[in-house]
Amino acid sequence: MNNIRVRIAPSPTGIPHIGNTRTALFNFLFARHNGGKFILRIEDTDRQRVVEGAKEAIREILNWLGLIPDETYIQSERLNLYKKASQVLLKHNFAREDEGAIRFIVPKDIQSLDWTDAVGNKKISFKTEEIEDFVILKSDGFPTYHLASVVDDHEMSITHVIRGDEWISSTPKHLLLYKAFGWEHPVFAHLPVVLGPDKTKLSKRNGAKSVLDFRKEGYLKEALINFMALLGWNPGGDKEIMDIPEIISIFDLS
Ligand code: GLU
Repeated sequence: MNNIRVRIAPSPTGIPHIGNTRTALFNFLFARHNGGKFILRIEDTDRQRVVEGAKEAIREILNWLGLIPDETYIQSERLNLYKKASQVLLKHNFAREDEGAIRFIVPKDIQSLDWTDAVGNKKISFKTEEIEDFVILKSDGFPTYHLASVVDDHEMSITHVIRGDEWISSTPKHLLLYKAFGWEHPVFAHLPVVLGPDKTKLSKRNGAKSVLDFRKEGYLKEALINFMALLGWNPGGDKEIMDIPEIISIFDLS
C-alpha cells in the first residue's frame, strides 16, 4: 500500500489508559508495517474538558514507548480552517445558524450510510433517518469533534482512521460531512474496545492503569508493547513473545 497515513487523535481530557494507548500502538504498527506516516493530533476543542498536564502525559507515553509521531498537530491552533469549512456548508445549504452555533442539516434524500470496516471486513450500515441534525461549530467558535475530525482527516490526507469502536456511531455523521464537502472518505477500522475484568469499558472505576503506572512498577516497554499488541490481534499460532520489529513485520488489520 502506498502513502499510508494514519493518526491518533487523543483529547487531552486525562491520562490515557492502556486501552487508549493500544489504539496508538495499532496505528503505529500499521503505519510502520506499510512504510507510512504516524500522526499525532491533539483534539483540544472541547475547552471545558481539557485537563492540565494531559497533553504532556500523552507525549510522555508515546516517547517512552518509542511510538514517535512523524507529524504533530493541535486543533486549537487551526480554528480558522474549521470556521471556513462551516461557512462552505452554510453557503451550500448543508447547515444553518442556530443560536450562535452552526448545525448540519441531515439530508432527507440519503437512505442509509454504510461502510466496510477494515476490522473483520464487515459491512456497517445506519439509517439516515435515525441521525438528528448536529452541531458542527459551537457558539464559542470552536468546532465539535465531528467537524474538526473530518476536516482534519481530509486536510492531513489520512488514508485509514483506526480508532476504538465506541466511535462507530459517529462515523455515519462523518460520512454525511464527507458527502457534503464532496470528499472521499478514508478507510475506517474500528477496534474492539478493551474491557475491564467486569466486562465494562476500561475506566478508572474498574482499575484502568496507564502505561506510566506500569513503568513505575518496573515493566519494560517491550513487554507492554507485546502485551498491548495481543489485545485484539493475533497472528495465528501460539507464539506469545515477540519483539517490536517482529510485530511490525506481521501486523495486519484484517
Ligand atoms: N478525540 C477522539 C478521542 O478522544 C478521537 C476519536 C477518533 O479517533 O476519531 O478518542
